[in-house]
Amino acid sequence: MQNEETLGKVKDVNEILDVRHGALSAHLADRILREEEEAARLHALESYEILDSATEKSYDDIARLAAYVCAAPVALISFYGSGKQWLKSRYDSSYFVNKALALPQPAQLTQRMQNQPGKLLQVTDTALDDIFATLPQPAGAAKFRFYAAMPIYSPAGDILGALTVLDKRARTLAPEQCQAMETLARQIMELLEMRRTLIGLSDANAKLGQQNITDALTGIPNRRAYDQKLTEEFSRAKRTGAPLSLLLIDIDNFKSYNDNFGHPAGDTALQSVARVLMSSLRPYDFLARYGGEEFVIILPSTDLTDAIVVAERVRNLVASSEFPHRKFTISIGVARLDVDAGARALVQAADVGLYRAKAAGRNKVVVGKLNDSSPSGSATP
Ligand code: GH3
Ligand code: MG
Ligand code: MG
Repeated sequence: MQNEETLGKVKDVNEILDVRHGALSAHLADRILREEEEAARLHALESYEILDSATEKSYDDIARLAAYVCAAPVALISFYGSGKQWLKSRYDSSYFVNKALALPQPAQLTQRMQNQPGKLLQVTDTALDDIFATLPQPAGAAKFRFYAAMPIYSPAGDILGALTVLDKRARTLAPEQCQAMETLARQIMELLEMRRTLIGLSDANAKLGQQNITDALTGIPNRRAYDQKLTEEFSRAKRTGAPLSLLLIDIDNFKSYNDNFGHPAGDTALQSVARVLMSSLRPYDFLARYGGEEFVIILPSTDLTDAIVVAERVRNLVASSEFPHRKFTISIGVARLDVDAGARALVQAADVGLYRAKAAGRNKVVVGKLNDSSPSGSATP
């Protein structure tokens, strides 16, 4: 008898727990859904890069028009960030000028707006509204009794912000004023889409610029980038008097690699050599593909002695690295800038060094000098 009673109680408790558990799951699911929606909304908002952006005349004009059409002393264009409203534009007159405004949290507004999609949110008397009546008022805040906000939507329907008008007295907007608010909010959406298009274009431009200065095969800077860099470094060296050196590098017997293993294998080998060269650099050295199987390294603030050390390190690194099918060696011409002779002379001198390194049997570092008639230049094998 007592057992049956106990069993009954346990059953009751379980039923209560089940109900509570069900309610809790529904509550949790609802919260997760809302959080996901909010994350998507913020993501859409970010794509316009409008939060924290400076004031712009086109937005200010719309705010002024909204105030004028609605005969309201305040108009705002705000974007709803995470936990705060970003006022892109604020028009105010008379009593409101330069005064703080106590505005609700974005989430409080978006929840209400979602309940009546596409419609103007009108609070005819904020003193009677559960959200507005309880807002903490900062010191010196301008009190308002009327609030009307037309949501600004993304094309996917996310609420990004609102065009808002406020007034000191409780009131409503006439139907044509409501329509004007809708029209003006649509104008803001147009402005936003234009802004996003421009952002996309400038990103695409930056990418194109990057492609213009990158060698497609090896991914390192190309000849054009090298030309720019050399001009910059030449000016710097001239201005500061700091030394500047250059290494011209050519892979030895590369043609036979192509002949034996095919052009695609040659391409892969070029990529590997570029990687090895890249790994040998100090942060301020600059490597580029000069053309074909030739590379160039610009060494800012580096005198000839140090340039030879760098060149030897690079030469050794390539010679000791493993590549598919066979080993590689490189020949390097080294030169130091003579400011009076100019940047072209620097490259020509390095080229002389490279020529001599080949003539001396390859896998060598040779310092090149212009008008150098000695048989092997100043070779440092
Ligand atoms: P040396 O030691 O005198 O420099 O001999 P080499 O065979 O390296 O010199 P040569 O100038 O005779 O040959 C260079 C070769 O580099 C020929 C060319 O087909 C190859 N080459 C240049 N650019 C590329 C490329 O992008 N891909 C491949 N696979 N081969 C290339
Ligand atoms: Mg060559
Ligand atoms: Mg070669």
